[in-house]
Amino acid sequence: MDLLIKNGTIVTADSTIKADIAVTDGKIMAIGQNIKAENNTEVVDANGKLVLPGAIDAHTHLAMPFGGTISSDDYEAGTRAAACGGTTTVFDFVLQDFGENLVDAVKRRQAICDPQAVVDYAFHTGIKDVSGNLIDGIAESVEYGVPSFKVFMVYDFGVTDGTFYKVLQKSKEYGALIEVHAENNEMVNMFTKQFLEEGKTSAWYHYMSRPEFVEAEADVRAIQWAKSLNAPLYIVHLANAQGMAAVTKARDEGYPIFAETCPQYLYFTNEVYKREDGRNFVCSPPMKGQESQDALWEGIKRGDITTVATDHCPFQSYEKDWGKDDFSKIPNGCAGIENMYPYMLSEANKGRISFNKVVELCSTNVAKIFGCAPQKGMLVPGADADIVIYDPDKEFTITQDAMHSNSDHTIWEGAKLNGYPIATYSRGNLVYKDGEFLGKKGSGKFVKCKPIKLTSPSL
Ligand SMILES: [Zn+2]
Repeated sequence: MDLLIKNGTIVTADSTIKADIAVTDGKIMAIGQNIKAENNTEVVDANGKLVLPGAIDAHTHLAMPFGGTISSDDYEAGTRAAACGGTTTVFDFVLQDFGENLVDAVKRRQAICDPQAVVDYAFHTGIKDVSGNLIDGIAESVEYGVPSFKVFMVYDFGVTDGTFYKVLQKSKEYGALIEVHAENNEMVNMFTKQFLEEGKTSAWYHYMSRPEFVEAEADVRAIQWAKSLNAPLYIVHLANAQGMAAVTKARDEGYPIFAETCPQYLYFTNEVYKREDGRNFVCSPPMKGQESQDALWEGIKRGDITTVATDHCPFQSYEKDWGKDDFSKIPNGCAGIENMYPYMLSEANKGRISFNKVVELCSTNVAKIFGCAPQKGMLVPGADADIVIYDPDKEFTITQDAMHSNSDHTIWEGAKLNGYPIATYSRGNLVYKDGEFLGKKGSGKFVKCKPIKLTSPSL
């Protein structure tokens, strides 16, 4: 036995028990009462602390070429920040090039990620091109360990409706899961052009060019197509009330429709775009109004939000400044990888939802839906020892100085949290303790995911 975490309160998605966890060779060996340490076992006393599975961030864009630049966290910086926020696995988005085989795209990014990652990583592939026999790459990719694919309804790399539908058809055949960034591209482009012509150039018009209905309409359309095929669909970064209602309705009807939301939509509203530094909050979809935020929280409580993930995609201040006088020139994206678990756990600590619910949303459900449970997302014998020790009494105010990303600012500056992770273990190795990163570049491993043939809203 290498490690024994004693006397902690172990919180999983469905239970809370006071027990010890024994770790050997990076795996959980046993969970139980009064486990005895061996001669060389390192013993950690977690009395008064919560012991949680590490979070799994289902949505990150590390070193991503976007908006005329590259997101400012490479795989090392992004996974370092993840570890320091209690996240022990990250799913990164590979973006296929036109004409590129889907597995080749994964291998291309894996070659960059593998020597850098400090915690374990998995991929989803953003599909751009399914012409010719490229569509068959879905089957090959599922086999390789990447059974989830994303289509964008916006941006210059977005797909046509026909391609989206074709991908949904194929996904059913191979047990793959399709994720969608849902916003109406035509509307966004029309509004953007109109506002710029009218001299309306501030960050507020980023929101105004992508208001609630622009996202909701795309959600409804995407759900409609998935329903027509009875194919599973995962809506990434859901941020609006109408879309939430559409997800709930489809799930009530029994369809395998799933939604992810992000901490930034649960904490901020569109008011941030009126701030002097509003451009730092520019991401797509943008933060919405209070009504949408309330609907997302209700969706979480009802069980109609399946996961919470970050959409981590930071850009430096000077890059955000490109859009000082033209919102359309602001690179879209914010840092959040280090803030997700601490923020959600703090909300639980304040009594808004249970700690079990946070574990479910940020870890267990992610592992289940993307096919890496029980290796990830669960504290059970045989699982990877990805463990977070959380101090519910530690007060923490988020400041840029305390963050571990390469980003030079954080939209979470000044946010006050009740409780904070004090230690993170990645496969039994201590990678973070009391504010300090202790991991090693390149120690993260590729997590091979299995296809999950989802046929109903339950996991
Ligand atoms: Zn994203």
